[in-house]
Amino acid sequence: MRNEHKRIAIIGAGPGGLTLARILQQAGYEPAIYERAASSAELQQGGTLDLEENTGQKALRSAGLLENFLAACRFEGEALKVTDKQANVFYEEAAKQSTIKSAAGGGRPEIDRAKLSSLLFQSLRANSIRWSHKLMQAVPLEHGRHELQFENGHTDQVDLVVAADGAFSRIRPLLSGENAAYSGVSMIELNIINAAAQFPELAAFNGTGSMFALDDQKTIMAQFNGDDRIRIYLGFSAEREWLDNNGLDYTEPASVKRKLLSLFEDWSEELKNYILHANGPITPRRIYMLPVGHRWENKPGVTLIGDAAHLMSPFAGAGANLAMLDAAELGEMIIHHSDLNEAVQAYELKMFEYAGELAAETQTNMALFFSDQAAQKLGEKMKAIIGGQQI
Ligand SMILES: Cc1cc2nc3c(=O)[nH]c(=O)nc-3n(C[C@H](O)[C@H](O)[C@H](O)COP(=O)(O)OP(=O)(O)OC[C@H]3O[C@@H](n4cnc5c(N)ncnc54)[C@H](O)[C@@H]3O)c2cc1C
Repeated sequence: MRNEHKRIAIIGAGPGGLTLARILQQAGYEPAIYERAASSAELQQGGTLDLEENTGQKALRSAGLLENFLAACRFEGEALKVTDKQANVFYEEAAKQSTIKSAAGGGRPEIDRAKLSSLLFQSLRANSIRWSHKLMQAVPLEHGRHELQFENGHTDQVDLVVAADGAFSRIRPLLSGENAAYSGVSMIELNIINAAAQFPELAAFNGTGSMFALDDQKTIMAQFNGDDRIRIYLGFSAEREWLDNNGLDYTEPASVKRKLLSLFEDWSEELKNYILHANGPITPRRIYMLPVGHRWENKPGVTLIGDAAHLMSPFAGAGANLAMLDAAELGEMIIHHSDLNEAVQAYELKMFEYAGELAAETQTNMALFFSDQAAQKLGEKMKAIIGGQQI
């Protein structure tokens, strides 16, 4: 006996929630999908994501969407350059020709987050997402059931609630006393719209993928997106309140750019061009994380996937990949176990292992990015990784 007759709710329509919804729907389930945003247009869409073979791509294969992804992704986005503040190059990698449009997948090709979301939305049955449903709390009932209470007054009683509601999950407190805490890194996101058309020299310097300049405990991390935009994350090792106390008025782009240029005064002109040419939205971002190796005691009828389970900083590019892998692992367990609680337990045990490893790697990377001679160290690390892959 499988679990089709059980009522399953998914809270959150990010990469994790959508992937799980698709996998369950494909197997004949009808999960209730609740999302606080009013529509897909309102969701914060963000930048480009590189989906890795053994995580994000594996999940898309389970969801029957790998081919759609391969048709939409950008293999040229895999290119990477690492420099110090004088633009000395410590590592440079062109997009791998071997993976270009390979039907088997592979590599870490890029896809804009908005494109990935729309690929997942379109794969779901019509009208299956309940928009404008902000979960306020999940109240435990008997036999592992929960009552979901929403801000708009709606309630629902379910056999399993899956929290895919991100960094500040409303459901996490049912399972864990841990909260998302400030990681020690703050970012200011800049955007250069129509980059190749307007600033061909900068576009050529950047290359078709990512450019990471690391020095003086600061970063300029730039990524070409599919819409000819370069999205830039200026990273700072800083106290939690720095984004509020640094004197920047984020609504005044010209003065923000002047101040930022002064913070990067002795960096090379090519690198300062990322600030000088910024012509799009400017967004301050505090980076939060859960403790490395976050886990909890299993409780019937409730579990966490994605950032709700293992929020980590973006320094291994793992978050969306892991959210989707969690969805695939949990989905497969639900489909193949006859007992829902055993399925959840099996998923959690497996997920704690792989997520713990990636959280530790992410933490090591974050320390590296803000250490002395960071560019040199990252260059050596990348060469070792690529060398290892070639063996
Ligand atoms: C600057 C930056 C760069 C990043 N770059 C990368 C990268 O290159 N590669 C990568 O893999 N990851 C990256 N990430 C991480 C990635 O964005 C997240 O890990 C990923 O989005 C997590 O997916 P999720 O589905 O768990 O949660 P989310 O994407 O956060 O989705 C949660 C959803 O739940 C909804 N929600 C929240 N609360 C409620 C509620 N109470 N009721 C109903 N709905 C609710 C939200 O509206 C949202 O739609 C980056 C993150 C940052 C901050």
